[in-house]
Amino acid sequence: MSEVRVRMAPSPTGDPHVGTAYIGLFDMAFARHHGGKCVLRIEDTDRERSSKESEEAIYRALRWVGIQWDEGPDCGGPYAPYRQSERSHIYKRHALQLVESGAAYYCFCTVERLARMRQAMQKRKSPPMYDGKCRNLSADEVQSHLDAGERPVIRLKVPKEGETAYTDLIRKRGQQVVFQNRHIDDQVLLKSDGFPTYHLANVVDDHLMKITHVVRAEEWVNSTPKHILLYKAFGWEPPAYAHMPLLRNPDKSKISKRKNPTSLDWYRQNGYLPEALLNFLALMGFSAEKGKEIFSLETMIREFSWDRVTTSAPIFDMKKLEWLNGTYIRQLSIDELIERLRPFASVGQLDQGEKTAKMVAIIQERMKTLAEFDKWTWFFFTDELDYGAELLVAKKMTPETTAEALATCVPAFKAVDDWTTEALERLGRELCERLGLKVRQLFMTLRVAVTGSAKSPPLFESMEIMGKDRCLARLETAQVKLEQVN
Ligand code: GLU
Repeated sequence: MSEVRVRMAPSPTGDPHVGTAYIGLFDMAFARHHGGKCVLRIEDTDRERSSKESEEAIYRALRWVGIQWDEGPDCGGPYAPYRQSERSHIYKRHALQLVESGAAYYCFCTVERLARMRQAMQKRKSPPMYDGKCRNLSADEVQSHLDAGERPVIRLKVPKEGETAYTDLIRKRGQQVVFQNRHIDDQVLLKSDGFPTYHLANVVDDHLMKITHVVRAEEWVNSTPKHILLYKAFGWEPPAYAHMPLLRNPDKSKISKRKNPTSLDWYRQNGYLPEALLNFLALMGFSAEKGKEIFSLETMIREFSWDRVTTSAPIFDMKKLEWLNGTYIRQLSIDELIERLRPFASVGQLDQGEKTAKMVAIIQERMKTLAEFDKWTWFFFTDELDYGAELLVAKKMTPETTAEALATCVPAFKAVDDWTTEALERLGRELCERLGLKVRQLFMTLRVAVTGSAKSPPLFESMEIMGKDRCLARLETAQVKLEQVN
């Protein structure tokens, strides 16, 4: 095989999409497996919807998640420019070349005529297609339209008969996918403002940038015969195609903002680790050896083959992603986790040395995302716990019995010199026995008193980290709260 060259071709319209990272990951894994090259091309031909901010966001988000490219607008390369808006002259030249050879033609139909035509077709329930009015204009007719100052589009002259076929590396596993030419529209290649359509720019660039394999989402399958016809019209060899199954919402519809977060920024801001998200995206389309679910990018690159890529639609399951994220969080060293938590913590909250390390160690077990830092640690950083006294009262207890229990606990904890998890837990269990209470009952009361909530990191570890004075103050506050109820 000649050098493998693949491209990611996002359009910079809106937030950086998980789908872009998903396709980019498969591009990258395939290219790296073969020692090939990955190109990032910015498809910004839609001038109205494209923006510089969105382009910047794509670079940032792809880098964050760990997608790398060898050539692109930001880093250059032998086939620059890699931003389509800077390549208009190239597309125009190629479109004119096709007019010259008779494979494409000028179309002068007005927007109004095209709208009327479409309406009529809809009425007849036939799919909207150009009716070919300008397909066979003579050179003189074309000239007189041009002389009248009309601004034409250029359309591909799609053969009316025969079929167009290609083989896909994923769909139907190498069998031909066949399209009837009579169903393929005479698509516009160059718009009247001189800008190319997606089809023209995409094909010209893939050819000029020497792309050997086009890896893209399944939604582009119907564009593929149009592209193959364009390659034919130019007399070029088409690349190989791999259409990836679309990511889907749990209800099987195509992944959408309304049902799932789709912006890569959202995952960063909500405390997902890039390596977990990448593993998750890999899992969406790739089966690793022995059905392994947790695997690194290196493993995927090493094991990559199209046979391992799923043909069925993967469901984007947030629960699964949370599970994976939690698993990756637990694999981090404490120092690493502290660094990763910084964007989610307030100033100073992670700068207490030994204490910070202990605190992070106990929440590591429970966190599903980095953004849960506050949810698990807020009580360490406040002096006022705002909870209702009834929360202190465990099952089969009353405010009175709870107050009595605390009346025994407070002096007992006050007498502890060795304020360590082990000593505190030992005392806690002794107190249960002394008071004739279940561990579940007394520890619940202590937990709420110390952390302000029934769900917290391990109680005695938290007490050790908080220190004796603060814990005693909290137990006393709990007593006051109970008195007010009694
Ligand atoms: N610009 C298209 C997109 O945004 C690229 C499709 C393709 O890969 O051909 O998805």
